[in-house]
Amino acid sequence: MKSLSERDQKHLWHPLTQHKLHPKMLGIVKAKGAVLYDEQGKEYIDGISSWYTCMYGHCNDAIIAKVYQQMQQLDQVVFSGFTHEPAIALSEALITLLPSNQEKLFFSDNGSTSTEIGIKMALQYHHNKGQKRAVLLAFDDGFHGDTFGAMSVSSLSVYNGPFEDYFIDVKRIPVPTDDNIGNLLQELENTLNLDAIAGFIYEPLVQGAAAMKMHKAEHLEKILKVIKSHNVLAIADEVMTGFGKTGKHFASDYMEVKPDIICMSKALTAGMLPMAVTSCTQEVYDAFYSDDIAKGLFHGHTYTANPLACAAALAGIELLTSDGIQKNIGKIIQWHQGFDAEIKDHPKIAATRQTGIIYALDLNITMERYGNVRDKLFKHFMDSGVFLRPLGNTIYILAPYITTREQMQKIYNSIKEVLNSF
Ligand SMILES: *Cc1c(COP(=O)(O)O)cnc(C)c1O
Repeated sequence: MKSLSERDQKHLWHPLTQHKLHPKMLGIVKAKGAVLYDEQGKEYIDGISSWYTCMYGHCNDAIIAKVYQQMQQLDQVVFSGFTHEPAIALSEALITLLPSNQEKLFFSDNGSTSTEIGIKMALQYHHNKGQKRAVLLAFDDGFHGDTFGAMSVSSLSVYNGPFEDYFIDVKRIPVPTDDNIGNLLQELENTLNLDAIAGFIYEPLVQGAAAMKMHKAEHLEKILKVIKSHNVLAIADEVMTGFGKTGKHFASDYMEVKPDIICMSKALTAGMLPMAVTSCTQEVYDAFYSDDIAKGLFHGHTYTANPLACAAALAGIELLTSDGIQKNIGKIIQWHQGFDAEIKDHPKIAATRQTGIIYALDLNITMERYGNVRDKLFKHFMDSGVFLRPLGNTIYILAPYITTREQMQKIYNSIKEVLNSF
């Protein structure tokens, strides 16, 4: 019998992969809790929660039970003209969890579609009000997904060459720091005075794909105040930061000024099934509410509000708001602080940073984002039984909330080995 790794190569085309350079995939046969098992039986602690999804652990029994129950009741139905209990129950739970100004939910299938919808909402919002605003504002180094609108606003999609001529118009601003915030706000005013900006899309507090680059809530708050005073819609891309990772349910909870639109996916469904939600305020919704059919949002995906995905999301929210998970989040935040105190002055470390359970460190070596040193680092982690995915010279941890102290220590130890041996 051929291995998964060999059979894979015949027909499969993997994401973000140059197959000529990286022909071999690792066959994973099982996952439970914080652990992935490969086809040789080797175990890996999932230090990045399979791209920030399975925060309550893989194959979580509580989530499996809820999804299984739903499977026997209603699997899938068209969401135009029909509705169902799992979507309604999820809307009630999610609206309670979200910042208090959020009132309406629009479903889709993944993070990219959730931002694509946020962008379309912002453009059409102004269009419906009879204003032509065709430009979007976004941060440098942002990442919002791989569909066309999402690619347009992402500055980090480094391999977008073939598509760049077809992008939406985007004006970029730097990520705020103590040093640049004054200038940034001044220039922002000038840009906004042109009245061409429809919406500002941003990853609040932590830019995931930018290697967990972090900025202060007080600075972001100032930017939001300015854009809002120009009637620009704030579109918070919480696809990565949502559902507890920053220490609060949403990164937007750290600010008084609330977004008009919030994009969610990844941990929304606890890593069990793909789904996304774009939420908005009553005011945004009202701009589409009309006797004129053309003012509606004519966007829809076949699997919109899939009942199984809704059931998984509901079960996830129940776990997120439980005492147990909230305590775990608090513990992980402290463990990271302890680890940081231990290593931050190491000569091989250029900088460290933490927001909630997200911890990142930059190594003092220059290397390419997907180059050889990075591959060596990755191999070291995997050999030591830890799945971490360094981005350039940044190593970051975003482990599930159910990671035990012992498992986290294994991650820390593997990082310490890098510091002492690379
Ligand atoms: C992952 C991610 C996306 C894209 O989500 P997909 O489900 O991969 O399409 C968008 N925005 C942010 C902030 C992300 O982290």
